[in-house]
Amino acid sequence: MTDRASKVRSLLRPEILALSAYHVPDSSDYIKLDAMENPYSWPDDMVEEWLARLREAQPNRYPDPSCSRLKACLREAYGVPEEAGLLMGNGSDEIIQIILMALQGREATVLAPEPTFVMYRQIASCLGLKFVSVPLREEDFSLDTAAMCAAIETHRPAVIFLAYPNNPTGNLFDFEAIVEILQAAPGLVVLDEAYAAYAGRSFMPRLADFDGLLVMRTLSKLGLAGLRLGFLAGAKAWIDEFDKIRLPYNINTLTQISTEFAIEKRKVLEAQVELIRRNRQHLLEALGRLPKVRVYPSEANFITFRLLRDDAGQVFQQLKDAGILIKNLHSSGGRLAGCLRVTVGTPEENRRFLAALSTILVS
Ligand code: PMP
Repeated sequence: MTDRASKVRSLLRPEILALSAYHVPDSSDYIKLDAMENPYSWPDDMVEEWLARLREAQPNRYPDPSCSRLKACLREAYGVPEEAGLLMGNGSDEIIQIILMALQGREATVLAPEPTFVMYRQIASCLGLKFVSVPLREEDFSLDTAAMCAAIETHRPAVIFLAYPNNPTGNLFDFEAIVEILQAAPGLVVLDEAYAAYAGRSFMPRLADFDGLLVMRTLSKLGLAGLRLGFLAGAKAWIDEFDKIRLPYNINTLTQISTEFAIEKRKVLEAQVELIRRNRQHLLEALGRLPKVRVYPSEANFITFRLLRDDAGQVFQQLKDAGILIKNLHSSGGRLAGCLRVTVGTPEENRRFLAALSTILVS
């Protein structure tokens, strides 16, 4: 081993050395349907107005560390209860990291269903926390409430993550099942509502009903992925503690101004969401007509489908060769063997994806 390699091994924590980096493929020149982005840009007049607003920015000054104006906008737009606190994150990924960094000791357990958003496990592992997963039901990816409650009883998790709707399966877990988990949980339950705009359902109005409930949101899937803004709403007793860990200027000036602007113009974004929901319906129906494809229902802006043949990895690669980038879930194995995930694009992007996929499937 070289000197440097042995230094790396001796200085860094073993859990970091054991991790694989979160891989983001190069997407230039592809029809990009892999990352649940909103495919629509802003109308020209809105872009002009936004650029004019950015003139307020003072790059020589630090941003407002408490994001006070932006928080007021978010509270109003998302119906955050007055008595709840708000934690701001550089994307909701950062919020997950802040919550997990705050946990006491290496003994703390993090629990989530499987499959779900990979960053819960990734960040927990990176911090040396114990991560326990409970399989979703095989037939429809629904929550196995009895198995979740049994795991809660055994492991007494400090935090449970539930994505509502779930990524990568696209379904919305049963409301009653979530309430049962909230009642059984000894610690925190983070309802990750990254895709709430597409589902029209939220636990935000129920915040006051459960001691350990935290509701996490991101603006990424709504159309602001490039700005990086996530937030967490919950009882101040929790939020004030998490806020001590947050780096003072984690939300930069351009993000604060642009997000406030986008929220003022949210009618435009909401119209785009409506369009995407309609595109989703067409895509669901068209995928369902393809041979040997099982399509799972979706309440989000992506669709997961299973190829009832044993070459999902090759089909993914052939789509890529045809210039279309989706997500290969098959490679993570387990319940996702044979599965691929496509983000809902514009009608033209969806048409090209469907044309390429049907050609591959019949060849
Ligand atoms: N939660 C879920 C369920 C997600 O799917 C994602 C993004 N794929 C995130 C959180 C993170 O979003 P961001 O960091 O862009 O806010």
